[in-house]
Amino acid sequence: MTDEKHCLECGEVILGRSDKKFCSDACRNAYNNRQNKVSVNLIRNTNRHLKKNWRILTDLNATGKTKVHRSKLVKAGFDFDLITGIYTTKKQSVYYFVYDQGYLDIGGGFYMLVKRDV
Ligand SMILES: [Zn+2]
Repeated sequence: MTDEKHCLECGEVILGRSDKKFCSDACRNAYNNRQNKVSVNLIRNTNRHLKKNWRILTDLNATGKTKVHRSKLVKAGFDFDLITGIYTTKKQSVYYFVYDQGYLDIGGGFYMLVKRDV
């Protein structure tokens, strides 16, 4: 076998067992620490934006049931990709939730904001 394996961190040729991914403990640690940091940042940023989404819905829905236009949510910085749950009623209405705050697309660019009792 002439297949050469290279360290994922530094690119050096790896000697020894074929299942090794790194040339040394130092390279393995450096690589894993960097991967972990990326995950931590991703999770932190996602959590931050989920919280922002929740805050926007809470602020716009003081009464527990409010009709708003999509542009108002977008202007506030709402990210429609970030939700924590989906609830489909028997009539096939799909509510999207950010924790206890939800919204339903009611057409014409409008959403009905609702609050779930928790
Ligand atoms: Zn290495």
